Amino acid sequence: MVEKNIPMIELNDGNKIPQLGLGTFLMSQDECEDAVLNAFETGYRHIDTATVYDNEKQVGLALSKSGLKRGDIFLTTKLANSDQTDPHGGFQRSLDKLGVDYVDLYLLHWPLPKRSSALGAWKGIIEIAESGAAKSIGVCNFEIEHLEMIISETGVVPSVNQIELHPEHQRSELVAYCREKGIATQSWGPLAQMKSNLLEKPEILEAAAVYNKTPAQIVLRWHIEHGHIIIPKTVNTSRMKENFEIFDFSLSQKEVSTIDSLESGTNYGPDPRNYDG
Ligand code: NDP
Repeated sequence: MVEKNIPMIELNDGNKIPQLGLGTFLMSQDECEDAVLNAFETGYRHIDTATVYDNEKQVGLALSKSGLKRGDIFLTTKLANSDQTDPHGGFQRSLDKLGVDYVDLYLLHWPLPKRSSALGAWKGIIEIAESGAAKSIGVCNFEIEHLEMIISETGVVPSVNQIELHPEHQRSELVAYCREKGIATQSWGPLAQMKSNLLEKPEILEAAAVYNKTPAQIVLRWHIEHGHIIIPKTVNTSRMKENFEIFDFSLSQKEVSTIDSLESGTNYGPDPRNYDG
């Protein structure tokens, strides 16, 4: 696994994940193949997709056209909510669309607490890991109570919890719990999905001026300082480069704390405690 200039985070199973990857949520099929190829060209080696994004085929095409070795790419996909009762079938359909025989990280997409299918899905995902077809396994959008449930029932601790996380929604208690359990936190919506005025806040603009960086780079660097894994999505090649160029500077502890003070408990995506997918 080679990813130029990108730190690798060691997971609790010993595998390593690049701390920066490209997200693909809301990338249309038309956009996705070129975007992923551009990302590889830029130096990204970590791609995050999901069954429900309906672009796994395009991610796979980009992978095969890139000329890169499969072992040089860290590929994540996620089990669709509608496949929680058929995790093996859902996983095989993802492999077929991606055109690969393993993924680096397979994630259970939502806990769906109003249904009772997440535990069975997690058990299926554990079997998939045991088969070697998913090198690492984890979950998304799990609150502490959801994590406690699957861990106590199976004894298997996820490697990753991918959650909505940005300066306005830092999930400190959940992140601390995950750290204690050895679960890596991956931030989705690291730029608050551009649904807020985060990039116009003085706290961000001041740091941007100090380092001659863009507000987006400051926010992404803030995640890196916290040790989070990030997967910002963009189809725009210049923004892709911008999001990649965050490893040649660092924020001071004071600047990190100032950005921490933007916490407002605001989530822009669904609330996992009642989302029913
Ligand atoms: P992001 O916070 O990554 O924001 C994406 C938006 O920001 C897009 O509109 C993009 O537009 C814009 N953007 C990207 N870079 C910049 C920049 N440098 N300056 C200004 N605007 C920018 O939100 P996402 O929801 O996409 O989250 C990231 C990834 O996390 C997803 O793509 C997906 O892979 C994953 N995810 C996982 C979820 C889960 O439930 N597990 C839920 C949601 C996301 P443009 O493309 O035009 O540049």
